[in-house]
Amino acid sequence: MGFTVVSRSGSPTRRENQKRRVCFRLLLRLLRRGFVVLSAESDPKMPNYSIRGINVEFPFEAYQSQIIYMDRVIESLQNKCHALLESPTGTGKTLCLLCATLAWRKSLGSFSTRKDRKNSAIPWSDSDEPLSQSGGGGGAFPTIVYASRTHSQLRQVIKELKRSSYRPKMVVLGSREQLCVNEEVNSLRGKALTNACQYLCKKRGKRQCNHFNRLPDYLKHNPHIGDEPVDIEDLVNIGKDSGPCPYYITRELHKDVDIIFAPYNYLISNGYRKFLKVNWTNSVLIFDEAHNLESLCADSASFDLPSVLLSACISEAQECVQLAAARRDSLNDVSINPENFAILKGLLLKLQELISKVPIPKRDEGFTKPGPYIYEMLKSLNITHETAPKLIGTVEEAAVFLEEEKQRTATNAGSKLEIIADMLKLIFRENGSNHADVYRVHVQELEQNSTDVMKGKVSRTLSWWCFSPGITMLDIAQKGVGSIILTSGTLSPMDSLAQELKLDFPIRLENPHVISSNQLWAGVVSTGPSGYVLNSSYRNRDVPEYKQELGNAIVNFSRVVPEGLLIFFPSYYLMDSCITFWKNGCYRNSMTVWERICKLKKPVIEPKDSSLFPAAMRDFSEKLQDRATSGVVFFAVCRGKVSEGLDFADGAGRAVVITGLPYARVTDPRVKLKREFLDEQSQLADVKLPRSTLLSGSMWYSQEAARAVNQAIGRVIRHRHDYGAIIFCDDRFEQPSQQSKISLWIRPNVKCYSRYGEVISDLARFFRTERSNFPARLVTEQENNIGNASCSQKITLIGRYHILVCLPYYLPSCFFPCDNLWVAFGCRGMI
Ligand code: SF4
Repeated sequence: MGFTVVSRSGSPTRRENQKRRVCFRLLLRLLRRGFVVLSAESDPKMPNYSIRGINVEFPFEAYQSQIIYMDRVIESLQNKCHALLESPTGTGKTLCLLCATLAWRKSLGSFSTRKDRKNSAIPWSDSDEPLSQSGGGGGAFPTIVYASRTHSQLRQVIKELKRSSYRPKMVVLGSREQLCVNEEVNSLRGKALTNACQYLCKKRGKRQCNHFNRLPDYLKHNPHIGDEPVDIEDLVNIGKDSGPCPYYITRELHKDVDIIFAPYNYLISNGYRKFLKVNWTNSVLIFDEAHNLESLCADSASFDLPSVLLSACISEAQECVQLAAARRDSLNDVSINPENFAILKGLLLKLQELISKVPIPKRDEGFTKPGPYIYEMLKSLNITHETAPKLIGTVEEAAVFLEEEKQRTATNAGSKLEIIADMLKLIFRENGSNHADVYRVHVQELEQNSTDVMKGKVSRTLSWWCFSPGITMLDIAQKGVGSIILTSGTLSPMDSLAQELKLDFPIRLENPHVISSNQLWAGVVSTGPSGYVLNSSYRNRDVPEYKQELGNAIVNFSRVVPEGLLIFFPSYYLMDSCITFWKNGCYRNSMTVWERICKLKKPVIEPKDSSLFPAAMRDFSEKLQDRATSGVVFFAVCRGKVSEGLDFADGAGRAVVITGLPYARVTDPRVKLKREFLDEQSQLADVKLPRSTLLSGSMWYSQEAARAVNQAIGRVIRHRHDYGAIIFCDDRFEQPSQQSKISLWIRPNVKCYSRYGEVISDLARFFRTERSNFPARLVTEQENNIGNASCSQKITLIGRYHILVCLPYYLPSCFFPCDNLWVAFGCRGMI
C-alpha cells in the first residue's frame, strides 16, 4: 500500500509545489483512514511507432490490436479512401484514432498557428452566418473534423487529445445552449435562445450583448487560443464575468484550425453543414461512436408533423397577426405588415384541412404515397420552389416577433413555428426533388392515450420519411472529402452499413479485444432450469411458462454472477410484462420470482422516460457501493440508454444477459415502409450483381436487431484486465446465421449449452477462476488509458475496492486543484 506523486516534466513551480503539498496532505489523510491509495506514473518519453512510413507518438506501449487499428487509419488517410473500423470498447480506439490521424497530418506539414489579426477586421453580422466569411480550414493542409454523438463524448475525446503529444490548432463547436454566457438569455433553449442572441447582437438593437462586443479585442490579443486543447467548459470560463462570447469565439476560430471537434449534427444536418466554413477538399471526417449513424442520417433528413404541433403553429401565426397589428399602430410603422402572418396562418389552416381529409381506410396502415407526392400536396396550397423561400422568411420573421414578445413578457417557451421553416427547408433544399424518390409521404392516425384533454381524441401526423441515409453521406462525400472514417465498438454487420450509407469502404477492420479469451465467458442458454425452451419470439413471449422459466434462470444467474448483472430485454413491453409476472405471477416456496431475485441482488429498472434515467443510474451506483448487498441487477432494454454507450467496467457489469432478439415492431409503419423500400431497391438494382450482396428488407431487419444486441453486450469487458460473461438466453442464438452477426471478438468464444445445469457450473467456475486471477489490484495508467468513458459515467468496482484513477485532466477542480500531477487514488465508497 502506498502512493507516489510524479511531476510530468521539468522542475516544479512554486504553485505546483503548493498543489503537491495539498495533495500529499489529503492522500495521507486517506491513508490514515485505511483507504487504499494507488499510483500511476507516466513515462515522459512517449513510445514511437513507424506505421506506413509515418512516425506515430503514442503515450503508452501500444497493444498489437492498437497498432493494427492505427495502421488502418493511416492507410485510409494515405489512400484517400473511406474506412469502417470496429474495435471493442476498452481497446483505446479514440486515442489510436487521434494519434494516427494527427501523426499523418503532421507528416504533411506543421500544425497551424493563428496569425495576428491586424486591426481585428472582423466584419460583424446580424445574421446567423459566421462573423467573417473567410476561412476554409487552416490553409493548404486537410482539415480534420472529428464528430461524436454527444458533447460528453467529445469531452472525453479532448481529454484523450490532452494525453497525446500532438498539439494541433483545435476548436470544439457547441450550441449557444452550451456556450452562451449572457445571463439575461442563457436560460432560454433552442431557437428561442438563438433568436434572443441574434436580437442582442444587432448593431441597431437597443440592448446589446457585451460579450459579443468584446470579441474583436479578445481575438486580437489572444491569437494562440486553440493551440492547447480547450473544452466547452474552458471556453465558458473564458467568457464568464466580463469575457468575450465563447460561442462566437468558436465560430470565428473554426475557420483556421487543424481539427474541429463537433457533434454529429454539424456534419449530417444540411443546415449545420452549411454553417461550417471548412475547405472540404481532401478533408478528413471522423465519425466516432458511429453505430447509429445510418438512423441518425435518416432522421436528420426526415420530419414528422403531428396535428397538435400544427395547431400550436396556427395559434402562433394568429398571435403574430395581433402583435404585428399592435406594433404597427403603436409605432406608426407601415412597414410592419400583419398581412403576411395572416397568409401564413391561412396556409397552415389549409394544410391542417388537407391532412385531415387524406383517406385512411385502415388505421393500422395509414396513408402512404411516394416521396414526390409532398410537392403535389404543397402545390395545392401554392407552396412551390418559387414561393417557399418567401414563406420561410415570413416564418422566421414570425419567430423573431414571438421571441421579442416573450422577452418582453419574460416567458421562455420556444417558438413552434420554426419547425415549419425547418420542414420547408428540408423539402425545398437546393435541388428540390432530387432525392424525393427515396422518401415516402405517410399520414398516420392515432388515438391519443395521454392523460390530458386530448385523451380519446384522434390525431394525425404527416411524415416525410427518408429511407436512404446514404443521401446525406453522398452529399458530404461529393464535396471532395478525402477520407471518411466510421468507428465504433459495434459496426458489424458491416455490409449492410456500407450499403445503407452508399459509400465504398475499401478499408474495414473488425479488431479483436485486448483481453485474452479466458477473460470472457460467452454461452447460448437455450433452455431454463426446468428444461422449458427460452425463446422470446412474438409467439412465445406471453406464455407464462416462458416468463417463469426466464425468471428462474435469472434467479440462478443472480446467485453465481458476482456484483453487477445487466439483463437486456428486446423491448419495454417485454421487460414490463416479465417484471409484472415475476412480481405477481407464480409463487414457489412462498416467494415470488421477483422476491428471490431481490434477495440475491438489489434491482434497478431502466425508466422509459429519459428524464428519470440519471436518478436510476445514481440508484444503481449507490446500491453497487452498498456493502450490505451482494450486487445489483439492472433490468434494461436493447437500444435503450443503458445499452447505448454507458460504461459498466469491472464489478459494475460482471455479466450481461440478452433475453431475446430486439427486432423492431414489424407493424410499425416506418419499419414496414423501410423493408418495402429496400426490397424495391434490390429488385431495381443491376441484375449483374449477385442477389446475396444486395440488402433486402428482411436482411436489414435482422441486421438491425443484431447490431442492437452487439451494442448491449459491449457494456461488459471495458479494459485489458476486465472479465465478464455474456449469456444469450434465447435458443435462436444457436443458429449459425445469428451467431455470424455477433461481434467478431466474441464469436469464437460462444458455446451452445443444451443443459442448464452445465451453464451454472461453468459460470461459477469461470467467476471463481477469474476472481483469483484478477483480485483487488492496482489500476495502471495504461489500463486507464484504454476505454473512453468519462469518470462521471464510469462505475468501477474491482474486487473489494472502488478505484478512481485521476490523471491530470481528470482531477475535479473542486477537489484537487492540481493540474500537473499524475496521481491516482481510490477507496471503497469514494465514488
Ligand atoms: S453573443 Fe454570445 S453571450 Fe451574447 S447572447 Fe449571443 S451567445 Fe450569448
